[in-house]
Amino acid sequence: MSAVPQRAGWSRLPLRAAAFVVLTCVTILGVSAWREWAARDAVLRGAETEMANVARSLTQHAEDSLDLLDSGVVGVVSRLEMDGAGPATIAKLRILLETRKKAIERIHSLAVTDDQGNWLTLPGTIGSTLSDDAFFRHHQLSPKREPHVGRPVKSLVDGEWVVTLSRRFNKPDGSFGGVVLATISSKYLSHFYEQFEIGRNSSVALTHGDGLIVARNPNNDKFVGRSVADKPLFRDASLQRPGGAYHFRSPLDGAERVSFFKRSGRYPLVLLATVDKDELLAPWRAAAISRMLFVLALVMLIAIIGAVLVRHLQRGQRMAAALVEKEAHFRLLAEGSSDMVTRIGLDERLRYVSPSSVRVVGWRANQLIGTPALAGIHADDRPQVQAIVDAMKHGEKEEARITYRNVHREKSEIWLESTLRVTRKVNGDVDGVVAISRDITEQKELETRLEMLAIEDSLTGLANRRRFDERLSEEWTRAYRDRSSLALLMIDVDHFKAYNDEYGHPAGDACLRVVAQVIAAETQRSGDLAARYGGEEFAMLLPNTDASGCARIGDRIRRAIREAGLVHSSNRAYGCVTASLGGAACRPVLERTAGVASLVEAADQALYAAKQAGRNRLMMSGEVASLMLKASGQ
Ligand code: GH3
Ligand code: MG
Ligand code: MG
Repeated sequence: MSAVPQRAGWSRLPLRAAAFVVLTCVTILGVSAWREWAARDAVLRGAETEMANVARSLTQHAEDSLDLLDSGVVGVVSRLEMDGAGPATIAKLRILLETRKKAIERIHSLAVTDDQGNWLTLPGTIGSTLSDDAFFRHHQLSPKREPHVGRPVKSLVDGEWVVTLSRRFNKPDGSFGGVVLATISSKYLSHFYEQFEIGRNSSVALTHGDGLIVARNPNNDKFVGRSVADKPLFRDASLQRPGGAYHFRSPLDGAERVSFFKRSGRYPLVLLATVDKDELLAPWRAAAISRMLFVLALVMLIAIIGAVLVRHLQRGQRMAAALVEKEAHFRLLAEGSSDMVTRIGLDERLRYVSPSSVRVVGWRANQLIGTPALAGIHADDRPQVQAIVDAMKHGEKEEARITYRNVHREKSEIWLESTLRVTRKVNGDVDGVVAISRDITEQKELETRLEMLAIEDSLTGLANRRRFDERLSEEWTRAYRDRSSLALLMIDVDHFKAYNDEYGHPAGDACLRVVAQVIAAETQRSGDLAARYGGEEFAMLLPNTDASGCARIGDRIRRAIREAGLVHSSNRAYGCVTASLGGAACRPVLERTAGVASLVEAADQALYAAKQAGRNRLMMSGEVASLMLKASGQ
């Protein structure tokens, strides 16, 4: 019963191993992927930091540039307010402004307008030189004296895009006197941004607070003046802070970008440094792919080794299950069989004994396991069994069937029949013997009885006629060979018909049994054979006996029968049972032509003569011969 849960546990083992392998692979892949993701994050964060630095320093640069412009503008404003905007002052200022502009590269232009928007230092009006005069209108309407950074405008004189920084100056009465304007070229800024190597698909752009691009690197000409006011940077509430990073997908090429923006604290300017995510991550991606390929190869190796191991486990398990099943079948056969199944090791000890041992030899299996296998065998039979077991152990014999006597725990002795078979290891070496043994005592007894029946006379227990004939020819051959003599007595109960008639047939049988006992008692040598020859006639075969010996024994038998005192009134001369005997002896070697039959015939004739002579007597064949000679008158 315990085999069932054990097998269930077994069957889950390959599944568990497979789960373990999968878990290991998934863990390795997961950890590697997580590490790569973290590395990617680090690259992005590094880029953000770098972009933040770029944005900060470029914002600073823009502020410094405007400060520089403003300091010039402030100087001109104070001059105009102090000296007034008369032609003399303007003439002086024109020279000053020219020198300033030449001295400072950043300054694209420095100019003054009157309260109508006509240039005082340049020929013409604002409208004829700049694409937009919003800055002028701002100052015209606003009494504020702070510098005003205007939207990028296109110079209609040289076609360049510029950013304006302007201040108003007042007339002595405090009313609007005009505007002092300084511009910085978009191209200058764009050139300046070129110094920062930020990658092929990356860009640096300076935009005005209302979303118009002031300067950009690269492609300044294409972008300047364009509005990006609809972009998240200007619309998303979350991005309306002084600076920060944000990720977006470019509407132009669909590529992902990372930007860092910085709003100027003092001017309405925003600097935006943008890098292409793909480009940024390219080195990481290349390294990550090679690392992941290595990890994948490792995982595949683990998976393959794992799969092989799992297959092995499954196969092993199937084999174990088959073995368990085979063993179960074997046990069922061995333990269900009424025969005793044993396995004998090379040390001739019992390795396995089936439960039927209790029935067969009286001992339980656990009492026998480990004991010498041949211990219970009868001493007379053991050498024969030992020889067979030795031959099997040496591989000379594969199978054998043996019958032997064995001890039984309760009975005195039993007969066992064993079928032996060699068992071998996988490599073919003999590793023991399996014996299937059954109790054949009853069969053996039956056989013995049958054998006895075949040679014994059932009424008297003496040898029967068949046995007598066999022994007679055997003894004849032996006597012939040994040149010895062989004698035979034929014994016939006198007037037995009359006995039967008088006392009945059963009494006749009883009488015959007594006569047989008397005759058997007279057999002295082991070779002598007393037999019932037929009816009330007996025979005694006497090997190595001559005529005189035969006569002596015959006479003893005759007397013994009479002395048995079995009443037989019809046997008038004696009143008791008597028998007549005919004896004959010969040396077969001398009887050249005669055979066995001649001896029987001679004894028979002697018996006949004894009957004729009056019964209850013994006649020897020789005496018969001399009587016959006398009768014929010789
Ligand atoms: P004799 O003295 O001439 O031998 O006379 P007899 O009567 O013995 O001779 P006979 O051979 O004529 O008779 C033998 C008798 O023995 C015949 C038979 O009834 C009897 N007889 C033979 N076998 C058995 C037997 O097995 N049991 C019994 N009860 N009687 C038997
Ligand atoms: Mg007779
Ligand atoms: Mg008779």
